[in-house]
Amino acid sequence: MEKYLKAIQQNVCAICVDSNESGHCKLTDKEICAVEYFLPEIVSVIHNSNTDDLQECYNRLKEIVCVNCRAQTLDGYCYLREDSNCSLDRYFSLIIETILKVDSGEI
Ligand code: SF4
Ligand code: SF4
Repeated sequence: MEKYLKAIQQNVCAICVDSNESGHCKLTDKEICAVEYFLPEIVSVIHNSNTDDLQECYNRLKEIVCVNCRAQTLDGYCYLREDSNCSLDRYFSLIIETILKVDSGEI
């Protein structure tokens, strides 16, 4: 999982609105980034989806990850997603691309 985390930090954190100019995460100790927290689940969803179909992959991420996230209510509402405040939701296509590039040895 270390290689995926490193690639995410270099490719996603670097452009994330929650990072500083050096690409370091600015979240406080009391905040959790779903991308880091659920990285094993995210990688598994991508490996088990038809990654040509981004919408399918996005839906699977919501089914597998969001249902286990405390930010989402039982009826599927997430205030962070609604406010574009979840980095997993904001950058899901870049996250998929990054993980696939690690798998292909491109990064
Ligand atoms: S919120 Fe997540 S994706 Fe954004 S910089 Fe922090 S760890 Fe990276
Ligand atoms: S969109 Fe909401 S429920 Fe899904 S991972 Fe992000 S914060 Fe959690």
